[in-house]
Amino acid sequence: MGYRLHTFSPEEDSPTGQIADREVCADYNDGEAVRAFTKEVDALTFEFENVPALVAEIAETEGVLVRPAGSILHAAQNRLREKALFGKAGLPVTPYRAVTNLVELRTATVEIGFPAILKTAAFGYDGKGQIRLESEEQTEDAWQALGGQACVLEALVNFEREVSLVAARGADGDFAAYPLVENRHVNHILDVTVAPAEVEPAVAAEAENLARQLCEYICLEGVLCLEFFLLPRRQVCCETVDSESRARELLLVNEIAPRPHNSGHWTIEGALTSQFEQQLRSVCGLPLGSTELIRPAAMLNLLGDLWQNGEPNWQSLLAFQDANLHLYGKREARPGRKMGHLTVTADSTAAALETGLAARKALQRN
Ligand code: AMP
Repeated sequence: MGYRLHTFSPEEDSPTGQIADREVCADYNDGEAVRAFTKEVDALTFEFENVPALVAEIAETEGVLVRPAGSILHAAQNRLREKALFGKAGLPVTPYRAVTNLVELRTATVEIGFPAILKTAAFGYDGKGQIRLESEEQTEDAWQALGGQACVLEALVNFEREVSLVAARGADGDFAAYPLVENRHVNHILDVTVAPAEVEPAVAAEAENLARQLCEYICLEGVLCLEFFLLPRRQVCCETVDSESRARELLLVNEIAPRPHNSGHWTIEGALTSQFEQQLRSVCGLPLGSTELIRPAAMLNLLGDLWQNGEPNWQSLLAFQDANLHLYGKREARPGRKMGHLTVTADSTAAALETGLAARKALQRN
């Protein structure tokens, strides 16, 4: 798109650093380094949530466009702030209680009941910092295990599936959403995304409405992903007649990520505009691109585990015409670490997934 990209990260040779025009390596808490960096750029965005909100604050003070705004990053970094925001924006969420000590936790378990999930308010992702509670006896140990820090206690949701939606809002207030997708996790880590999700049209429309409602409420300028739990239809009151009202009761918002998301990687091949181009467009104040689906797609993550018997068999992928490989250039392949992904497009999501699973299997060294 003709822009020059500068990246700031404590890590040297980071995935973005490898393709950036300029890579600056310094600590996020090094105010001087952050200030110097912001002087060199016109607009600033972030690629994951754990960049301290102070970085955005410094850039905003220096008069640099920060998109999405630092306040949105700040809210997304903490489950309690995030849930408070959902409440204000009128989004449906899982019943929860904020807990800051063991007494509050005990009260919360009485109100929420068992089973429940205790999650640290700060820095939780991919199932880290959360413990499932089955009974009163586990409460104290779980509280200690999470380090006695501020937490949320959530009711366990018997969801049917997990779905998510990537949306964007431009600087002019324009809004665009990609189709709703289905996500399958293994060990709490995203394993596979299929696009589009096979859901009733009313459910897809409601997910988009909720995304629009949130993006407008927070005046988003950028890309954002909303993750939902989709409830089984039998759990929803059978008296509810029309599909729109039913759809409204089927979705609960779990969390947001105010950035391109792993469940949106399929858009590189599967949509007219990728979520990354959309991010650039929204951050640079350009009109948004079309989010139209080109072909059904399946995205399969490649975790470090794939390297356990040596370098995966990349050559084998050449036999799969519709498989697209993306490697992030991370040096060390640790178990559970997201090293890359595959996207397959096909005439149906089932066909895309079948080819994707076969392609990923062919990569494995025995
Ligand atoms: P999170 O870090 O909140 O996205 O949680 C990671 C994963 O744990 C989710 O993708 C779900 O599979 C599961 N999970 C989180 N919260 C709940 C809940 N309240 N009920 C059931 N499963 C949950």
